[in-house]
Amino acid sequence: MTNQITIRAPGTVANLVCGFDILGMALDEPNDIMRMRLLDEPKVVIINRDEFNLPTDPLKNVAGVVLLSIMEKLQNNVGFEVEIEKHIKPGSGIGSSAASAAGAAVGANHLLGNKFTSDEIVQFAMNGEKLASGVKHADNIAPCILGGISLIRSIHPLDIISIPSPDLYVTVVHPQIEVRTSDARQILRKQVLLKDAIRQWGNIAGLVTGFLKNDHALIGRSLEDVIIEPVRSILIPGFDEVKSKCLGAGALGGGISGSGPSVFMLSTTAAIASATEKVMMNVYEGLGIAYNTYVTTINKKGVEIID
Ligand code: ADP
Repeated sequence: MTNQITIRAPGTVANLVCGFDILGMALDEPNDIMRMRLLDEPKVVIINRDEFNLPTDPLKNVAGVVLLSIMEKLQNNVGFEVEIEKHIKPGSGIGSSAASAAGAAVGANHLLGNKFTSDEIVQFAMNGEKLASGVKHADNIAPCILGGISLIRSIHPLDIISIPSPDLYVTVVHPQIEVRTSDARQILRKQVLLKDAIRQWGNIAGLVTGFLKNDHALIGRSLEDVIIEPVRSILIPGFDEVKSKCLGAGALGGGISGSGPSVFMLSTTAAIASATEKVMMNVYEGLGIAYNTYVTTINKKGVEIID
């Protein structure tokens, strides 16, 4: 049994526009690097190797919470040291907390000789999401662990379906403004109109079928959200302009990544994906808002042990 490993944990886009809380997709960029070591006493040590000043108290860092939940289950004298090199900005909406939670769960399982099933690993990792956002959800965790696109049909009981992911390009812009996940949840209406629900489940079924059949046109027209986006997009300056101009540049479609503020777009070619990036940059230059962009592809491997 190795007692030290290095892990790469990918960023993720949750919701995929119409699939609020039930769909997510892993990205090849950005990703976090984590080094983990088994300790022979029951404690968790967290070392942050980045500028984000995240907590090192295991009860306040999602990686720590996940590892403590694994230790509670094991009831033996094992502990973990985890060194986190974070590249996915916390609060960006591209699964920063999920990468640490999923990385910690997969890494610990590997160090322990692969004791746990994939569902158990997701369950452990969800404890981290509970800390970050107040609710256990798996729409970032599942694709982060499994790679590709995940459908979370149910949390209780856990029912996760991996969907074959098409070879599409993903462009992401992260405008450097703060959108608190709790605010982004609080402003949502608690009830939906039946006509909106019908349109939304038509889109979700269309999107999943589009992925399964690699039907780009169907994916494009199903990337429509009549329930969450009209409310949440008001928290993201430039959202409508970015979206309409990206579609004008040839992107298939896209929307808010997770609870924002990042916005993502899917494209069929690298050229369209970089034209989309230029559009995003122009909009935020014009608004005078600092931003980061990524032009990437769908990550098909999930969390990887790289050393
Ligand atoms: P994202 O959508 O980018 O994951 P969240 O709002 O879900 O952003 O999570 C970020 C929150 O989780 C921040 O409040 C951050 O302080 C907290 N947090 C605790 N531990 C970590 C960690 N290891 N990585 C990222 N965020 C963490």
